[in-house]
Amino acid sequence: MELVKERFWMLIQRDVGLIPERIMNILDFCGYSANCALEAINDEKLKIIEREAKEIPQILRISASDEEQMKKYFGKFYRNPQNFHILSGEAQQIKMIGVYLRQKGIGSYLKLDELTRMRERRRKEVTTAIEAGGGTLEEQGRLLAERIHTFYFNRCDGSPTNVEFCNMVSSVQVSVEIGEDGNLVGYVVCPLCQSEKKLRVSQDRTGHWVLANIVSHMNRHLATMVNPSQNPSDDPNSSKKVKLEPLDLDDSSSQYGANPYGFTMSMT
Ligand SMILES: [Zn+2]
Repeated sequence: MELVKERFWMLIQRDVGLIPERIMNILDFCGYSANCALEAINDEKLKIIEREAKEIPQILRISASDEEQMKKYFGKFYRNPQNFHILSGEAQQIKMIGVYLRQKGIGSYLKLDELTRMRERRRKEVTTAIEAGGGTLEEQGRLLAERIHTFYFNRCDGSPTNVEFCNMVSSVQVSVEIGEDGNLVGYVVCPLCQSEKKLRVSQDRTGHWVLANIVSHMNRHLATMVNPSQNPSDDPNSSKKVKLEPLDLDDSSSQYGANPYGFTMSMT
C-alpha cells in the first residue's frame, strides 16, 4: 500500500480503534483509502463493497490455495470467499470512520506536509541503504532482472518452446528508480513485445519485488508460444482471449507441481 494510504489508516485508527487488516485491504481495493469516499458510507455501499470484494481473487489473480493472500482479504472466510460478508461490528466501525471524516475533514487524516517529510526521509533511507551495501540502482536493476530470469528458468521443462521462451526472457531489460514514495520502483521492458510500454513493478513492505504483472504478462506470451493458434491480445473484447487461471506468485516453485507455470489455459 502506498505511504499516503498507510498513513491514512494509521491516523484514522487513532479515532476508531484497531481496524482489522482485511477490512483495510478490502476498503483499499474498493477505492476507499485516503479519500473522502467513506464520508458517504451507508448500508447500501457496504453491500456493494462485499460484492466487489468477492471479485478480488480473480482480479488480483490470487490462487484459492494461497492462504496468506486469501486471509489478507477474507480473514476467517478465506476458504469460502463466496460467503464473505462484513460483520456487524466491522460495519459499525466503517460507519464511524465516515462520521469522523465528516467531522474532522479528510485533511486531518492525510497531513500532506508531514507526508512529504516522510517521503524525503524514506528516499534518504533507501539511498543510504543501497550505498551502504556498496550497490547502485543499476545493480538493483540487474538483481531484479535476475529474479525474473530465475523465476522462469526454475520452471523450464526443457521442451524446445520453453527453452526458446527462457532464452528470450533472459534478455529482459530492467531499470530501477526511487519512486515518489521513496521506495524502489522497477521498470521492465518486455523482450517479447515490440512495445515501448514498460511494466511497472514495486516492492512489498519487506523489500521483495512483487512480480505479479510481469508474470501475468509474460505468461500470455508463453501461452501463445505453446499454443500459437491462440490470440495473445490483452483486449477484453478479443473473442479468442487466452484465459489464465489465478496464479500464485510466491517464488517457491514446489507448489506448481505438474504445471510449472502455475496456469492453465482455456478458451473464453
Ligand atoms: Zn510482452
